[in-house]
Amino acid sequence: MRLGGDASYVIDINSRDELEPTLAWADERKLPVIMIGVGSNIIWRDEGFPGVILVNKIMGFNERQEGPDYFITVGAGENWDDVVERTVAKGMSGIEALSAIPGTAGATPMQNVGAYGQEIANTLVSVEAYDRQTKQFVVIPAADCAFGYRTSRFKTTDRGRFFITNIALHLQRTNPKPPFYKDVEKYLTELNIHQYTPAIIREAVMAIRRIKLPDPSIVANNGSFFANPIVSQEHFKKLEASYPGMPNWPTSDGQVKLPAAWLLEQAGLKDMHDAETGMATLASQPLVLVNEHAEKTAQLLQFKKRIVDTIKQQFDIELEQEPELLP
Ligand code: NAP
Repeated sequence: MRLGGDASYVIDINSRDELEPTLAWADERKLPVIMIGVGSNIIWRDEGFPGVILVNKIMGFNERQEGPDYFITVGAGENWDDVVERTVAKGMSGIEALSAIPGTAGATPMQNVGAYGQEIANTLVSVEAYDRQTKQFVVIPAADCAFGYRTSRFKTTDRGRFFITNIALHLQRTNPKPPFYKDVEKYLTELNIHQYTPAIIREAVMAIRRIKLPDPSIVANNGSFFANPIVSQEHFKKLEASYPGMPNWPTSDGQVKLPAAWLLEQAGLKDMHDAETGMATLASQPLVLVNEHAEKTAQLLQFKKRIVDTIKQQFDIELEQEPELLP
């Protein structure tokens, strides 16, 4: 978002071995420590951070193939899309729908990154991390990551406790099967594609994202700013009475997932350019908040509050911010 104050120290961590001495250095000076990837999903407070930001640059890509099964271990600092590209080039399926997501591999388990029907929890075997509580490296199996819809223990109960150093994934030589998400189906139909490979789904997702989402290196944004809300059946029935035909999807636990972008559009919050805060919502995807000429995070938060309050009033839904606000 290109907002927020300064940190006292920013230190690159290039290997697992650099972690403990750097943390000891920070401890000696009683400095708080935060680890980040590339910061694509972070909003920094205006106050800045009187501590140390560790930038995870731990690289590595190890692979093992056993028949149709493909196991990879990836350094947390690897660019996520490079990882997707590499596995798709080998004909492997499991993360192709997670193409073109800005950020590092090690960040994907934090919020159980997901898109177009795949989420990292589907293929993640384990996470290797430094546990700041026990001061040891640990391997956490996927079953112990408390994954949920765009969430995990790393952003809830154990926020800030683990520094992820690498992730292990299990992919398979298989072809993706329909039905796909509407946008993907549309792309495939338009190009008259009837054979589905991981490479074709990657192409489709990249083409859709190019149209809907601005490149953060050019236009300051964090991608989707709000998570899609999940409401009870009862709440959904009430809303449906007022908005017949509203899009919705059942969740595995009997609730209903609603598209936040649709709610914003209904509330007239799409393509909204606010002169006072310098913030805007995109016309192609209202969930994306863009910094047009804001100078303070406080302005972004003011703009966000306006959206949250409007949606609360109109639908009785509390939208949740998806990017992390630090420190
Ligand atoms: P979209 O395709 O317009 O879909 C909007 C909403 O409808 C999402 O809640 C999506 O669920 C749901 N949906 C659409 N088709 C569905 C289907 N066939 N089955 C079940 N649910 C369906 O979404 P978008 O905003 O353009 O985003 C595209 C994809 O990127 C979505 O999957 C979105 O979740 C994902 N995304 C993820 C992150 C993140 O991980 N932080 C950030 C931005 C976007 P799902 O959300 O469950 O997919």
